[in-house]
Amino acid sequence: MTGRSYSTIAGRVARVREKMAEAAIKAGRRPEEITLVGVTKTQPAEAVRRLIEAGVTEIGENRVQELLKKEPFLADLPHKTHLIGHLQRNKAKYLPGHVDMVQSVDSEKTVQALAAAFKHAAVPLNVLIEVNIGEEANKSGVDQAGIEALADCIAQTPQLRLRGLMAIPPFVAGEAVRPYFAQMRQLFVDIKRKKMDNGTVNILSMGMSSDYEIAIQEGATMVRVGTELFGPRG
Ligand SMILES: *Cc1c(COP(=O)(O)O)cnc(C)c1O
Repeated sequence: MTGRSYSTIAGRVARVREKMAEAAIKAGRRPEEITLVGVTKTQPAEAVRRLIEAGVTEIGENRVQELLKKEPFLADLPHKTHLIGHLQRNKAKYLPGHVDMVQSVDSEKTVQALAAAFKHAAVPLNVLIEVNIGEEANKSGVDQAGIEALADCIAQTPQLRLRGLMAIPPFVAGEAVRPYFAQMRQLFVDIKRKKMDNGTVNILSMGMSSDYEIAIQEGATMVRVGTELFGPRG
């Protein structure tokens, strides 16, 4: 049941890191500038442990319930946990002590819910603004026009620290995704230039298994990879 399938995780990690480094160098960037977040949704805790042991110490989960369920089985392994899926506001209260970053902040109401949940937290919660870069009706995230107002709202919220932007571009084949990443890069530069005073904006989270090399070439500082580390989700 265990063993065989998971024994390849370390090998897969090595391969992904190699491809990340190649993409970085091709773009004239240093490989150390880019953080790999291993996307662990649907994976059993045992597989997540293998991933962390293979050196992927930042993991991403989509759902609060699943994140909380696995955490106790990972507690002895140093790692950071990112919430990368849409946050239902009534779940925010379960997050303190369990997440290091929420990448999917997409409305002022979500900001308020997180601020209330983290009212007594010792350190501010790191957050990214999720941008609906393809302006797709079925996707969460703010439109480009809404980024600045949401960034201002976060800057005025002491419980949160704005760290950057996140996006899931439209599912298009191959090179067609590149312009979306380039657009995200420009939005990232714009928001960095504003020098929000309650945080360091230095994270651009974009790129998944099918397109992280292109994302890195276009300026991603963080990629979120699941399938290529674990194999296809069942
Ligand atoms: C599932 C998921 C990923 C990883 O996707 P893969 O194609 O499996 O690499 C990245 N980001 C988000 C927000 C996801 O939901």
